[in-house]
Amino acid sequence: MTAIILDGRAIGAEIKAELRADIEKYVHEQGRPPGLFIVRVGGDIASGVYSKAILRVAEEIGVKARLDQFPTRISADELRAILMQLNCDETVQGIIVQMPLPGHLSQKMVADMINSSKDIDGISPRSAGNLFLGLPSFLPATVAAVMEILDRIRAPLEGKRAVIVSRSNIVGKPLAMMLVQKNATVTVSHSHTVDLAGFTRQADVLVAAAGRANMITADMVRPGAIVIDVGINELSGGGIVGDVDFTHVSEIAGAITPTPGGVGPLTNILLLKQCVHAAWQQVQDGERILGKVSLS
Ligand code: NAP
Repeated sequence: MTAIILDGRAIGAEIKAELRADIEKYVHEQGRPPGLFIVRVGGDIASGVYSKAILRVAEEIGVKARLDQFPTRISADELRAILMQLNCDETVQGIIVQMPLPGHLSQKMVADMINSSKDIDGISPRSAGNLFLGLPSFLPATVAAVMEILDRIRAPLEGKRAVIVSRSNIVGKPLAMMLVQKNATVTVSHSHTVDLAGFTRQADVLVAAAGRANMITADMVRPGAIVIDVGINELSGGGIVGDVDFTHVSEIAGAITPTPGGVGPLTNILLLKQCVHAAWQQVQDGERILGKVSLS
C-alpha cells in the first residue's frame, strides 16, 4: 500500500481562501478587519521566526496583526497591565503571547490574564476547562491543525482507535479531549508507556508528537492507518524531520502527513482561523448584551 500524502500546504491554501472570504464579510459588516496582537518579550530566535510567519499569513488573508516587542527586563506588573489593556481594546480580537518568556515572568500569569474570548491559542485555564467539559473552546493551534486535517479528509473517527504519542498540555491532552468528543477510543501514551508499539499497532489514527526523530517505524503502524506527524526535529546537518519514519511508514499507512509540509504550515493558519472566529463571536456577544440576539 502507498499512503495518501496529506499535503499541509494545499489544505492551508484552501483554508486561506475561505478565510479571505469570511474576513471580507466581516470588514463589510464591521467596518474594520479583525485585529490580532502578538506580544513578544526578549529575543528568543524561534519565537521571532514564528511571529514573522504569523504576521505574513495575517497580511495574506486580511487580518490586521501587530507585533509589540518588549525588553527582557519588563516586570510582571508591566506585562499584566499590557494584557489588561489588550483585553479591553476593541480593535484587538485575538491575543498571543510568544513563549518562552524570560525566567522572572510566569507562563501561568499570562494564561490567567488573557481574556478567554481573545485566547486564540487556547492557553487559558478557562479554555482548557471548556475543552475538558466539551464546551466550545479555542484550541492550541497545533491541535486545531490536526483536527482540521482529520475533518478535511473526513477521517472516520466514531468508534475508531486513536493513539496519541504525547501527553503535553499543548498537544497530547487537548487532542485527546477532541478525539474523545468525536467518539474515538483514545489512548494517551508518553515516555513511561511500556510497549508503545503494542498500542500504536492498534491505532486507526496515530498522532506522533513526542519530539523524537523517526521514532515511529513501519513495524509500529497498522496497515491502512491515518498517521499524523506533529514532531519537528532539527537534524545536526541541517533540515528537519518528524517523529515518523516517513519513507517506510508511507508504504503501509493509509494516509500520512509529511514533515516538513504537513501539520507545520497549518498551525499559523489555524491560529488565524481561531482569531477570525473570535472576532465573530465577540460581535455576537456584543449584540447579545445589546439585546439584538434572542437569548433563547
Ligand atoms: P513536550 O512538551 O516535550 O511533550 C512531548 C511528549 O511526548 C511528552 O508527553 C513526552 O512524555 C512524550 N514522549 C517523549 N518521548 C517519548 C517516547 N520515547 N515515547 C513516548 N512518548 C514520548 O513537547 P511539545 O511541546 O508537545 O512538542 C512535541 C513535538 O511537537 C516537538 O517536536 C515540537 O517541535 C512539535 N511541535 C510542532 C508544532 C507544529 O506546528 N507542527 C507545534 C508545536 C510542537 P512525558 O510526558 O512522559 O515526558
